[in-house]
Amino acid sequence: MAELKDIFECTRCGYCCQGETTVSLDEDDQKRMIATLGLSREEVKEMYWRVTGNVVQMKIQDGHCIFYDEGCKVHLGRPWRCAQWPLHPSMLSDENNFKTIRESCPGINQEISYADFCRILTEIMDEQPKVHC
Ligand code: SF4
Ligand code: SF4
Repeated sequence: MAELKDIFECTRCGYCCQGETTVSLDEDDQKRMIATLGLSREEVKEMYWRVTGNVVQMKIQDGHCIFYDEGCKVHLGRPWRCAQWPLHPSMLSDENNFKTIRESCPGINQEISYADFCRILTEIMDEQPKVHC
């Protein structure tokens, strides 16, 4: 039985929390983050979110997600796409995506073949569509 650690173990390097863009939060993400922070929706929105039309994203501070500080400060309340990263389904359909993401994420097994990676990730995603790392 394949396990997540066969293809990925996060080193907590923080690379994926850097940069000028962050993932967007769906309604479930927003509720989970509010509950985790123990604040009101308005307080969370004021302190941590960038809202553009219907799109809610986390603010950027000093070139990284506002929650990043040698790790994720809202770990249990992070958006599901953060929890899914770096195991994005696009890696299964395009080896170049796999290579690009693996280069940027030291947590991905750097030795595994593309075929084995796809086989294991497919097994895991069949059991758990929203893979949480
Ligand atoms: S998911 Fe990858 S890039 Fe992000 S902190 Fe973990 S090892 Fe680093
Ligand atoms: S919420 Fe956490 S995991 Fe997601 S980008 Fe921000 S610091 Fe990184």
